[in-house]
Amino acid sequence: MTKSIQDSLSKVKAHLEAECFNKLYIGGKFVEPINGKSYPTYYPATGELLHEFPRGDANDIAGAISAAEAAWAKGEWAEMKAASRAKIVERIAKGIKDNLDMLAEIEAADVGKPFRQAKMAISGAAGEGKYWCSLGAVLDANQDTPVNSGGGEGGMPPADWDVVYRRDPIGVVGLISAWNYPLNVAFRKVAPALIAGNCAILKPSEIAGLSCMFIAKLAHDAGIPPGVFNIVTGDRDAGAALASSPSVSMISFTGSSLTGSRIMEACAPKLSQVALELGGKSAMVIFDDVDLDMAVATTMKGFLTNGGQICTAHTRLVVQAGIQDELLKKLKVELERLPYAEDPITEKDRGDRAWEEGKSDVVQPVVCKSQQQKILSFIDAARESGIEVLTGGGVPDITNPSGYFVEPTVLNNVPRDSDVWQKEVFGPVLSVRSFSSESDAVIEANSTAFGLASTVMSSDAAKAMRVANRIRAGAVYATSNGDGLLAEHPAVSRGGFGCSGVGRELGIGGLHEYTELKSVNYTGFRLAEAQNTASL
Ligand code: NAD
Repeated sequence: MTKSIQDSLSKVKAHLEAECFNKLYIGGKFVEPINGKSYPTYYPATGELLHEFPRGDANDIAGAISAAEAAWAKGEWAEMKAASRAKIVERIAKGIKDNLDMLAEIEAADVGKPFRQAKMAISGAAGEGKYWCSLGAVLDANQDTPVNSGGGEGGMPPADWDVVYRRDPIGVVGLISAWNYPLNVAFRKVAPALIAGNCAILKPSEIAGLSCMFIAKLAHDAGIPPGVFNIVTGDRDAGAALASSPSVSMISFTGSSLTGSRIMEACAPKLSQVALELGGKSAMVIFDDVDLDMAVATTMKGFLTNGGQICTAHTRLVVQAGIQDELLKKLKVELERLPYAEDPITEKDRGDRAWEEGKSDVVQPVVCKSQQQKILSFIDAARESGIEVLTGGGVPDITNPSGYFVEPTVLNNVPRDSDVWQKEVFGPVLSVRSFSSESDAVIEANSTAFGLASTVMSSDAAKAMRVANRIRAGAVYATSNGDGLLAEHPAVSRGGFGCSGVGRELGIGGLHEYTELKSVNYTGFRLAEAQNTASL
């Protein structure tokens, strides 16, 4: 390993000496896991040990649930105005912003994400925090919304009843998150769950979740009452203990579709709520009326961002037959000249083509050895079945042979029923099929069990709209130039059709996922009377 990589890694290791990266957070205290065990995590660029973090298990989960139950029973948090809770959460969001560089360095080292991309993602989380906090006042303003404004007409409740809606917190909720955007995925759950008035336990991913652990410090410093927010790091068994606990009334989960279905199963006997943000196999539909260079840049961004390890990665290219050969020729040239991010922590020092301008300019390692092996086995199986490997297809020849790198790979003319068309590879692998008519394009785009996101590129707005409206996915991008691809806005709800999920995240709908809708029926006295008495 070069001295510069050694130096950047030492800097991150120094950040990780802080208490919050070495202990669980339960009942307002930083504590050791009961079993005293730890879990290793490695720097994906070199395979070197990065950190040993606490490996909580079912006993620690039980402790965190007891702490959350006690806080819930006390009622202090749930009875506060949502706007007051939001003020406390806002301090956490500010803490994320104030520690941007440190958190980005940690994610670069933990996930292998180039620093600039990590920084952009984490500042996105801080920005989303602002949006969530603004929803506190919205939640308060919509409590006790009258249902019977029709005064008994048209099937409405009688005029002399005051029937109102309220949104109550659910209770003790479990938040289980994925590793690809650790802090973003976790904070997108923590903020709405707390603003809605719940008491929460976060279980980050064991593969990469170090940045999430910092939320405990920020929550503690922000003055969250003990037990209202807890973090237990650990593996899937810790997650399973959280999901199956009868005391946990809702699980919000982001991860693979397989785990999502297991969580649904664990929640079925107790009929508790689930919100599931799952995997995807998004289609990039490209018509022959677009600029080819732009289409190539958009395709690259779609399948290479975060090393293809993004739920909305556009890993299926559905290209109009007439431009297939020329587009792929250009794509191959561009992919083969991309450099590798051999030290993602210091990627900030590269001053050339900016990812922010919409270009995928560097290939990052994938997150861990087993992920690298999984991706390579998908490629090998495709090759053995006779699928054309247009470019890539293996491990690159670079200076860090122990890093978890995979060449950007394009598989051409793949059969529709092949694994590389149907399954989520979660790496830099693009599968290509062509279409001839508009309706064929829709059939190809909708030809998997997933439905998370997709893009249609055309210079014809009406055609793009027709196709976008027929694609079965929770978020569709219709574009002539690729702008905004993969972008998410906190005010815009999204989620999955089919195997990509249950429920919606972000937007007001994302906040409502953490509430129960309740009607209160006042008869014999009026609502105003109750409100006046309550405010005395
Ligand atoms: P994963 O399903 O392997 O693990 C996710 C989390 O679930 C981890 O914290 C893990 O410890 C926990 N877990 C595993 N088994 C469990 C069980 N039986 N019960 C309870 N918890 C359990 O997913 P991953 O590899 O961490 O993340 C990658 C996946 O996440 C991809 O499929 C990706 O598409 C998806 N993802 C989806 C979104 C979205 O918004 N839809 C966002 C990011 C990632």
